[in-house]
Amino acid sequence: MAAQGVDVLMVSVGADLPYLIGYEAMPLPRLTMLVLPRDAEATLVIPRLEVARVVERPDCFSIRGWEETEDPIAIVAQLAGRPGTAAIGDQTWARHLVDLMGFLPSTHWRRSVELVGPLRARKDAAEIAALQTAAAAADRVARQLQGGEIPLIGRTESEVSEDLSRRLLAEGHAHVNFAIVAAGENAASPHHHASERVIRAGEVVLCDFGGTLSVAEGEPGYCSDMTRMIFTGEPPAEFRELYDVLFAAQATGVASATVGTAAQDVDRATRKVIADAGYGAQFIHRTGHGIGLFEHEDPYIVEGNEVLLEAGHAFSIEPGIYIEGRWGARLEDIVVATDDGPVALNTADHSLVVVEA
Ligand code: ZN
Ligand code: ZN
Ligand code: ZN
Repeated sequence: MAAQGVDVLMVSVGADLPYLIGYEAMPLPRLTMLVLPRDAEATLVIPRLEVARVVERPDCFSIRGWEETEDPIAIVAQLAGRPGTAAIGDQTWARHLVDLMGFLPSTHWRRSVELVGPLRARKDAAEIAALQTAAAAADRVARQLQGGEIPLIGRTESEVSEDLSRRLLAEGHAHVNFAIVAAGENAASPHHHASERVIRAGEVVLCDFGGTLSVAEGEPGYCSDMTRMIFTGEPPAEFRELYDVLFAAQATGVASATVGTAAQDVDRATRKVIADAGYGAQFIHRTGHGIGLFEHEDPYIVEGNEVLLEAGHAFSIEPGIYIEGRWGARLEDIVVATDDGPVALNTADHSLVVVEA
C-alpha cells in the first residue's frame, strides 16, 4: 500500500476478502466490508446477524457488527479516515461505492485488484496443493467420461451436463461452477450452454467443467477447470487433423509457460501453432486465465499482458479451434509455473477419445 500510495484498502464481496481474512462476504445488499487503513488495524464491518459466521482472528482484524438501524457506510467512512487514495474491491456493489463517494468526496479511487491481484496470483504451497486436489477431482470425472461411464448418445447436452455436475460434487467439490457440454455444431461456440439438443453417434462432444473445492471445512475453496474432447464414434480424418493441431498447440502452450516468460508470449507460442496450420482466425479467445479462489483471475494469458510469469502463478492453457456451423474443439489444463518448469495439474488423457455409447 505504501509503495502504491494507497491510504486505505476496502474489500467486500469477491475473492479478495476470503484471500485476506478467510471469510467470504454474503452477496447481499447489506454491507460487509474489510477496512484496512495503511497505518492502522483492519476492521471487518459486517451485519450483526452475520457476525456468528466469522472465524475470529484477533491478531489479524477486529469485528464491528452493525445493527439494522445503523448506517454501515458511515461506519466504514469513519474507519477509513480521510484517505487521499482508497483502493476498493472490484466486485463491490456500485450502490456501496456511490454512497461511500458521498462521504469521501475528495478521495481518489482505485481498484483493489492492482494491490491484491499480484498477491493472489502467486500461490503458496498450500494454495497449489488445494488447486492440485481440485484438479485431481475434476480429472477423476474426466476419466469417467473418457472411459464411457457417462452415456452420451441419445442423451441431451443438459442431461450429460447434470451428470458431470453430480460427479464433480461426488468427487469432493463443494459446488459446480459450470459444466459445458456442446455437441456437433454447438462445439463451435466457446461458452455454449448445455441445451436440449440430443447427442448423436458420430459427433464431437466438448466438455468443459469445473467447481470449487475446500480442502478443509471453513477454508475458502479453490477452483478446478478443464476441457476434454470426445467423439461418439470414429472421427473423420478432417477432425483428427484439426485435433492434432490443437493438441500440439496446447502442449506448446504448457511447455512455454516457464518462469520469466511474459504471459503474452505464452499466448503467442500457443497461437502460432494454430495459425501456422491455417486455423488462426478460428482461435477466437485468449489462451488462458489465472485461477485460484476465483475461476477467472490474474494472470491472464493474453496478448498485451506483459506480466512475467513467476513461480506460483496458476492459470489455464486452453486453446480452441472453432469452425462455425460445423464443429469445434478446445483442450484445457490448469498449469502452475514453478522454478523447475511448468507443471500441468490435470493429467487425464489429452487425446481425442472415442466413446461408442
Ligand atoms: Zn471461460
Ligand atoms: Zn474451462
Ligand atoms: Zn478455463
